[in-house]
Amino acid sequence: MSIGIVAAAFFSSSCHETEERQDASHGWIVDRFDDIKVLRYEVPGFDQLPLEQKKLIYYLNQAALCGRDILYDQNNKYNLAIRRVLESVYAAYPGDRSVPEWKAFEKYLKKVWFANGIHHHYSTDKFIPEFTPEYFESLVRATPDSVFPQDLQPLSSLLETLRPVMFDSACCAKRVAQQEGIDMIVQSANNYYDGVTQAEAEAYYAAKADPNDPEPVSYGLNSQLVKNGRGEIEERVWRVGGMYSPAIEKIVYWLEKAAGVANGTQKETIEALIAYYRTGDLREYDRYNILWVQDTLSHVDFVNGFTETYGDPLGYKASWEGLVNFRDDEATKRTEVISDSAQWFEDHSPVDPQYKKKQVKGVSAKVITAAILGGDCYPATPIGINLPNADWIRKEYGSKSVTIQNITHAYAEAAKGNGFMEEFMLRPEDRALIERYGTICDDLHTDLHECLGHGSGQLAPGVRGDELKNYGSTLEEARADLFALYYLADPKLVELGVIPDPEAYKAEYATYMMNGMMTQLTRIQPGKDVEEAHMRNRKLIAEWCYEKGAADSVVVKMQQDGKTYIVVNDYVKLRELFGQLLREVQRIKSEGDFEAGKALVETYGVKVDPALHGEVLERYARLNLEPYSGFVNPRYRPVMENGEIIDVQIEYVDDYAAQMMEYSKNYSFLPSKN
Ligand code: ZN
Repeated sequence: MSIGIVAAAFFSSSCHETEERQDASHGWIVDRFDDIKVLRYEVPGFDQLPLEQKKLIYYLNQAALCGRDILYDQNNKYNLAIRRVLESVYAAYPGDRSVPEWKAFEKYLKKVWFANGIHHHYSTDKFIPEFTPEYFESLVRATPDSVFPQDLQPLSSLLETLRPVMFDSACCAKRVAQQEGIDMIVQSANNYYDGVTQAEAEAYYAAKADPNDPEPVSYGLNSQLVKNGRGEIEERVWRVGGMYSPAIEKIVYWLEKAAGVANGTQKETIEALIAYYRTGDLREYDRYNILWVQDTLSHVDFVNGFTETYGDPLGYKASWEGLVNFRDDEATKRTEVISDSAQWFEDHSPVDPQYKKKQVKGVSAKVITAAILGGDCYPATPIGINLPNADWIRKEYGSKSVTIQNITHAYAEAAKGNGFMEEFMLRPEDRALIERYGTICDDLHTDLHECLGHGSGQLAPGVRGDELKNYGSTLEEARADLFALYYLADPKLVELGVIPDPEAYKAEYATYMMNGMMTQLTRIQPGKDVEEAHMRNRKLIAEWCYEKGAADSVVVKMQQDGKTYIVVNDYVKLRELFGQLLREVQRIKSEGDFEAGKALVETYGVKVDPALHGEVLERYARLNLEPYSGFVNPRYRPVMENGEIIDVQIEYVDDYAAQMMEYSKNYSFLPSKN
């Protein structure tokens, strides 16, 4: 599981509106287009690492970049072809690049890169080019034929295929469709299923599941489910020799190099991952995860593989991602204090005792410095990750959770002085608290969410964990957020010395309620519902507490000068409400109560008040901020002597388009059609 930036807009920034703002965010923003800004991040401490660790990072960094094409193809089967056509034109079109149509073309390509495909990375809606099909076709015709990859030829028939895919809003409209009452598999434009219906997919995996297996395999995680020529349903497994083999072979190549410089458990862990990539055997994947979660000592760590299932409305299929990092020892003292008290937090939570873990095992938490982001972590990246996802491994072996501090630092730096809080937070005393404690509370929220929240609780006997279906992700995020919110206000945190002031938590409460009820709507287009799991979760929590606390005016909507504000009147009661909802959400998960989960999400997490939405969009537009951010990576360059790596140097990159073109040149291994 992973978490993104909590307050969508809080961390946004601007460098257009005033000179002052430009100065404040100077150097952190490398590109801006549409609703997106691209930042750079720093990797403090890399230069001081010992050579063996630098080599390990270098090899793992290569492995993290080699899976980029996989994600494009997972997101939609036309993505690779589209990206390559666009890039060929971008590289070699000889005509006029100063006209508005070209600018629109460039913007579209930047959006495709950012989303790893033609659907918005967050809303999963297809975005339509702001140029005509005729203009696009004229660009392709004017570009020399030889520039286009062989497997796109003949271009005329390709263009015919791509025309509706790119320009017709009804075609491939949504990458992840999960509205009530539709066939979520047929309606989703992702490439996880081909020719099968939701009912067929559900029946297929229901038949595979063994309810008595105490170590249930994550069926479907690493395969495409298709109907073959004989009308039978089968899986195309992502492994060496299977689907995506050319990219996976490269990943394995670099992992083998990495294993060569790793030692102990880490070496064994990387070898298990290689074995899994070779066989596609999900028992091997579990073995790898068990080794990985137990390796808490290695300074360098990584995520590499088919990991998160947010892109599949049924939650079976995992998108490919890569992340390489090393521990921030100083900041990790904070999370160690928290994870050392994991049992105390579990015992004192408001959850029904039968759904608490009797013995919290192996919760480890650390603060890390990201060295490279790949696959589904790039360019948009989580700020916290908790893995592995399999419930039984979490219960038996624990989980590892991280807060990515050099990324949150970059967000905070880029957001300085952007005017957002002045616009949306009414009371000066709340703003002062946020100014003072906002960053530490955000980091702590991430620590608690990942390390304790996702790791807490247990299922009732006989409950598998997939009963909540399309509501599962939202409710799981709600559970983790509520755990974090509840404990942020606990005197225990002051006692443990991780928070300096018993009032500090109010900064997070005020921001969370404002964001959940109002400002996160800046990410939603007019007329649309809230769909992404983390956003639904935040809305669900905020709206539920608002309604349940209405009689006591715990949280109120206030009007001033024609503007709406969310104001928390009673922080103590709000904490009680968080606790009540945590108890209920844990019950729903533990019992696999689909109907109750559905009611909670549909009632509080989905529907948007159009008037408030319009107001928020209008106020936000005036601030000239982008609601989404992502990152360019640094580049690692080995220094060679007599065929040996004697050092690895880090180079910071500040050209987003150039980095994307470089990745497409150096790390593109899959055919356009897979
Ligand atoms: Zn989470």
